[in-house]
Amino acid sequence: MKKRDFIKYSGIVAGMFLTGTSHVLANQTMKNYKPAKSRKAGLKLSFVPYDLKLRHVFTIANNSRTTTPVVLTQIEYDGIKGYGEASMPPYLGESHESVLKFLTGLNLSQFTDPYLMEDILDYVDKVSPGNHAAKASVDIALHDLLGKMMGKPWFRIWGLDPALAPNTSFTIGIDTPEIIKEKVAEAAPYKVLKVKLGAGSDKEIITTIRNLTDKPLCVDANQGWKEKNYALDMANWLKDKNVMFIEQPMPKTQADDIAWLTRNSPLPVMADEAIQDANDLMAAKGIYSGVNIKLMKCGGMNAAFKMAQVAKLMGMKIMIGCMTETSCAVSAAAQLAPLAKWADLDGNLLISNDCYEGMKIVDGKITLNETPGIGIQEVVKMF
Ligand code: MG
Repeated sequence: MKKRDFIKYSGIVAGMFLTGTSHVLANQTMKNYKPAKSRKAGLKLSFVPYDLKLRHVFTIANNSRTTTPVVLTQIEYDGIKGYGEASMPPYLGESHESVLKFLTGLNLSQFTDPYLMEDILDYVDKVSPGNHAAKASVDIALHDLLGKMMGKPWFRIWGLDPALAPNTSFTIGIDTPEIIKEKVAEAAPYKVLKVKLGAGSDKEIITTIRNLTDKPLCVDANQGWKEKNYALDMANWLKDKNVMFIEQPMPKTQADDIAWLTRNSPLPVMADEAIQDANDLMAAKGIYSGVNIKLMKCGGMNAAFKMAQVAKLMGMKIMIGCMTETSCAVSAAAQLAPLAKWADLDGNLLISNDCYEGMKIVDGKITLNETPGIGIQEVVKMF
């Protein structure tokens, strides 16, 4: 017997003792024991911590960094493997330690039917509050597994038209004019630039970019503007610079100021930090024009799909975004892209050690492939 098989059978034996059916094995030797076909093993979750290396130092209104911690996950069932990922940018408060602790505490082997996705994700959600990135890593792996079992990518299962996927923006962090010039050159393949503002040099950054390109821009202040009249002045100034929208202009705690800005701004005001999940979304009616939905904020593809439906019913604009992530989580988010007016799915483009290959940007546009699940292949074997 191979070592792997022994471990598998040992697990079955242990499980049978626990369920009180150990007598079944009493008259059998391990050698001739064969598990009955109907007695399928449950879902097997594996995970490994990993550090993404950023191509450039990434600076936004409140911090700078060169790496992002992630945890890569795999759910295996009946010989089929689904892949997932948790990405933990500092502001969300999750870490390698917190995600590994959460995943270690899960018992997915109790589920022997992966199609019961709502039950499985409901169990994962209720294990403990928060931990959205950790939960997303399970959700994504389960979606990848189920898509592979069904032989279809998720945008097909959801009935979405891949032709409706928008262009992705390419993010330019806060930097000196010299570095910004280099980044604009690097962004040549992309048709929309997302510019980080909010650290005091706002007009200088936009003017530098506008001297180089007339591509449409969007702006993300990451809560950096503290005063509503300044935010409105900037919105009016940016409108004339071919900017399409402003993301999280002011601190999420200043909801009244943001609602005033949204009523008066010539540009849509999108929520990012303020709307993590569906509960935040429903509380944001009248405060924002739209929402940037991210898998790591809401807990995965299932929650993100539901949020998009609710946002649509609320008449809010939908954007699909990401963190710094491998092609795994970015390709998972891309499955939702046909639902979005705008997308910012460039997380995998900002790193130098991607271990998956998936959704591609072709001529600036998110281009979904027909690979079942979330549409990825392993480039480096992580499991
Ligand atoms: Mg943002």
